[in-house]
Amino acid sequence: MFKRKYIIILIFILVVFLSSSFVFNQFVSMHEGNQNATNDSKSVTHEIIANNSAQDGGTVEVIRNMGNPNGEKIAYVVGVHPLENDTHRTFLKIFSQFDNKNYCYDVYIINVTEDFSKYGQLSPDDEPGRATGQDLALKYVYPQIVNGSYKLAVDVHAHGGVYAYDTFVFSPVDGSVGETYGRNVSNHTQNVSYYNPYQTTSGPYLTIPLNQHGVPAFYYEENSYFSQGIKDSHMLELVKAVDNLKL
Ligand SMILES: [Zn+2]
Repeated sequence: MFKRKYIIILIFILVVFLSSSFVFNQFVSMHEGNQNATNDSKSVTHEIIANNSAQDGGTVEVIRNMGNPNGEKIAYVVGVHPLENDTHRTFLKIFSQFDNKNYCYDVYIINVTEDFSKYGQLSPDDEPGRATGQDLALKYVYPQIVNGSYKLAVDVHAHGGVYAYDTFVFSPVDGSVGETYGRNVSNHTQNVSYYNPYQTTSGPYLTIPLNQHGVPAFYYEENSYFSQGIKDSHMLELVKAVDNLKL
């Protein structure tokens, strides 16, 4: 009698356990299904697309679908040159403050974890981290942008006042649609010039192949030694002008 009671209790526990794990699995698959549905409906998502610092010297993440989910897609890239991170932070701050965007934006963020020069030593920027950021751009960011139905890509940089202009945009490929968009941005901003310095180390890793393979792309360059207030206002000019482009 006692034994039978135990057996019944044991079976009861087993049934409860099995059914709860079934419910749990159902919940997990439903949840995953929901996440896919969320991606389909284009709400903002945060994704790590490269997470092996030991192998790559850094990581890459992307924030997708910022702005108008029904708009054409534009990609911004920050962090190709890790030393220029003041401008990258400025971009992320100003971009998130700018509401009512016309387009749908994905922001690619490259995080080089080691071997870049100290801030304030922008020229020459010859530490290995500079090349690491470029390699991460080519390996992880370029394939996603070139295959991602983007109408435009903007690569955000800074410099140490070594150019003829302080704040400028340019496409490294003359005659490209990227150049047209860059000139358009310059025409609709007070302080952003169009100026091709014909010297880019990162062009072959992102903006040149993008322009050559169907995604118009241009650089934004800012003088890193400007005050934060000036960098903020210039960045807002860029972000607004890009959002008002006719793509
Ligand atoms: Zn740069």
